[in-house]
Amino acid sequence: MRLDGKVALISGGARGMGAAEARLFALESAKVAIADVLEQEGRQLEAQINETGGQAVFIHLDVTSEAQWQKAIRATVARFGKLNVLVNNAGIGTYGEVEDKKVEEWDHVMAVNATGVFLGTKHAIPEMRKSGGGSIVNISSQLGMVAMETVSPEYHASKGAVRIFTKATAIQHAKDNIRVNSVHPGPILTPMTANTVADAELYKRFLARIPLGRYGRPEEVANGVLFLASDESSYMTGSELVIDGGWTAQ
Ligand code: NAD
Repeated sequence: MRLDGKVALISGGARGMGAAEARLFALESAKVAIADVLEQEGRQLEAQINETGGQAVFIHLDVTSEAQWQKAIRATVARFGKLNVLVNNAGIGTYGEVEDKKVEEWDHVMAVNATGVFLGTKHAIPEMRKSGGGSIVNISSQLGMVAMETVSPEYHASKGAVRIFTKATAIQHAKDNIRVNSVHPGPILTPMTANTVADAELYKRFLARIPLGRYGRPEEVANGVLFLASDESSYMTGSELVIDGGWTAQ
């Protein structure tokens, strides 16, 4: 079992890629805290995992709130005894052009996608240090590396922030044996991208940029996240794992 004995918290774990990671981590023997604003989906997934031999708990978490992060990490440790892995996965996607954007739209996306990662990392570090180290996996995007005309400037900026924040944290906390890496998925079939699949014109534009010619499945990203979470990646920190069907290769 690749995560035997480990306790993991996955933000945005109630659906999409976060849910795929929660299922896979539980299969690999991790104890999993599913932390999300979506109560119903989160509790359903918690029940599914527990009924099929895994160990999971749902914890309400809005990643923009520092107090809720502190509570969520306390609750995880109270339930499972420690924290070894944090997946900063919660995120929102938006579209549109710079000059049409309101400051409120910018601030909201930055609060969820970038500040949420900072807060989770900040409050996970002391617990990981107590466990002798840990692994933090930050879900950025291929759009944290290259831009696309239809996607919003605040989405790109937030994902670019996650990419470099990952490296800053990695070098500061290598001394604590805490590894920090970013994952850069391309288009993946989740509720977040459903609008791009439903719009024939937009779907064509996305597909045209993917050498493998299709969107990825959440499990294809979860496999990479599992590797970074596990001790198999013990010599990796500050690195970028690109899982994008070849989008950034051209
Ligand atoms: P999704 O919308 O299916 O899931 C996102 C999850 O984050 C949801 O469960 C949602 O409730 C949760 N969330 C949103 N705001 C939150 C908040 N304030 N506090 C706590 N939880 C919150 O999307 P997904 O496609 O599974 O996306 C997961 C991550 O992957 C995101 O960070 C996204 O930006 C990134 N990503 C997605 C794609 C893609 O094509 N789907 C590509 C690259 C990166």
